[in-house]
Amino acid sequence: MQCSTFREAISARLDGEPLGMSSRELDEHLAACRGCTVWAAEAARVTRRARLAAAPVVPDLTAAVLGALPRELPGAAAAARARLVDSALRLALVVVGVAQAVLAWPVLTSGAGAMSAPVHMAHETGAWNLGVAAAFLAVAAGPRLAAGALPFLGSFAALLLPVTVADLGAGHVHAERAVAHLLLLAGVLLVSALAWRGRSRRPVRALGCRQVPA
Ligand SMILES: [Zn+2]
Repeated sequence: MQCSTFREAISARLDGEPLGMSSRELDEHLAACRGCTVWAAEAARVTRRARLAAAPVVPDLTAAVLGALPRELPGAAAAARARLVDSALRLALVVVGVAQAVLAWPVLTSGAGAMSAPVHMAHETGAWNLGVAAAFLAVAAGPRLAAGALPFLGSFAALLLPVTVADLGAGHVHAERAVAHLLLLAGVLLVSALAWRGRSRRPVRALGCRQVPA
């Protein structure tokens, strides 16, 4: 083996890296080779001098860097606004849901208040309206449910509203009862708004699924 190979091993030993040979092999060569012993001593001296040299003086940029940072993270204000709007929508949905339940409860329990409908029809109507109220309150509590609730709530509203308008025109329904259906409309609009706002916040699937949010 040539001296250059042993000198690479000496250099590696100074840097704490693998020698590429056994330590004993290197020591035996150093014991036998005057040139490499001198080279090793010189290399150790240079290395030690480099490691002990004073670090160059660098300016303290801490204040400048901190001063250049924006006062708040980008998007923080928009996120706060979005949270405020979501909270307002959910609160409005709680109000609509409670009002809907208050209207539906007496009809469900007594069978009264559904005009001259047979008692069972009144019970059924009360149950439907209380179910709608429960759906509103559930979406207010968990807005992620909004999109899932829309097929039922949306189709119910889409069917009930035109027939109510037609019944009003034909005198089949009191205006007072028809106005109560505006609660349903308000609730469905609020649920739609929450579903629309939540569409971009669906969680990204775990790594490996290769899906990104729409
Ligand atoms: Zn040598």
